Amino acid sequence: MSRIAFIGLGNMGAPMALNLIKAGHQLTVFDLSTVALARLSDAGGTVANSAVASVLDAEIVISMLPASSHVESLYLGDQEILSSIAPGTLIIDCSTIAPQSARKVATAAATRGLAMIDAPVSGGTVGAAAGSLTFIVGGPTEVVERARPILNAMGKNIFHAGDSGAGQTAKICNNMLLGILMTGTAEALALGVANGLDPKVLSDIMSKSSGRNWALDVYNPFPGVMDNVPAARAYAGGFGVDLMLKDLGLAAESALASHAAIPLGELSRNLYSLHSQAGSGSLDFSSILNLLAPKKVN
Ligand code: NAD
Repeated sequence: MSRIAFIGLGNMGAPMALNLIKAGHQLTVFDLSTVALARLSDAGGTVANSAVASVLDAEIVISMLPASSHVESLYLGDQEILSSIAPGTLIIDCSTIAPQSARKVATAAATRGLAMIDAPVSGGTVGAAAGSLTFIVGGPTEVVERARPILNAMGKNIFHAGDSGAGQTAKICNNMLLGILMTGTAEALALGVANGLDPKVLSDIMSKSSGRNWALDVYNPFPGVMDNVPAARAYAGGFGVDLMLKDLGLAAESALASHAAIPLGELSRNLYSLHSQAGSGSLDFSSILNLLAPKKVN
């Protein structure tokens, strides 16, 4: 069993850290939110009073933060934990960030004798709680193999996408497709309901037809169709609109850098941007339905 520092205990990080505790690892945790820290303390984690303090005795450091700026700040910037991590320590960043940020931090880590992989995840908060996440990993093969037993305590599928940053590139492609699928699914359901269909009946039909997809089958955006999804709890929790907007922005940056065309990804990004600007940034991303569903006019 390992001594693990876990930094970032939000919608995803908290259940992932809980699964590591359940697997018998010794966790020292840090987050800016005292509420998040209290939850992990109740579950047996040791609370550190700073990011630096959390890593001092760690054999493995795991981070799960919102975006590139947070990760760069943690390892290289204001919080600067790299120089406090003992040489030989394994670093696993599970946040979804820009591939170039992942490479920048991994390169800085390597100059200090620290092995680092980017290991963004897919599977949502349900997968995080169930320990069934998919890890999409970038980094040297030997480091990925070293991380595998730890990742196995939090997930079911571990893919090695390539060198440092490749995990992020694959994750960005996946999330661009997810944004497109969620938007299309919400649009189709809203159209059916506006024309008198029951959203559950329409979902049953499409999930056995050629429109079948994950957003429809597992994470249905229409309230009342499924239990245990954000649509069943006024879109609270889950995967935030602003996080999806960030990922679609990363896809746009990758497309610009590689001269790739992503017309549907860009359209989806614009829709999520409008939705966020309308005040829905902290709701789950399936709330895009509210932007697309026709409002009743009397
Ligand atoms: P979240 O906003 O719920 O949690 C982020 C946590 O990080 C918060 O508790 C915040 O207080 C903490 N934090 C921020 N800056 C910090 C710092 N400098 N030091 C310590 N703690 C800090 O986000 P989330 O939904 O858990 O997502 C985390 C990452 O996982 C994101 O990159 C997201 O894109 C990705 N992701 C999320 C989901 C999902 O379904 N929510 C699914 C796959 C991937």
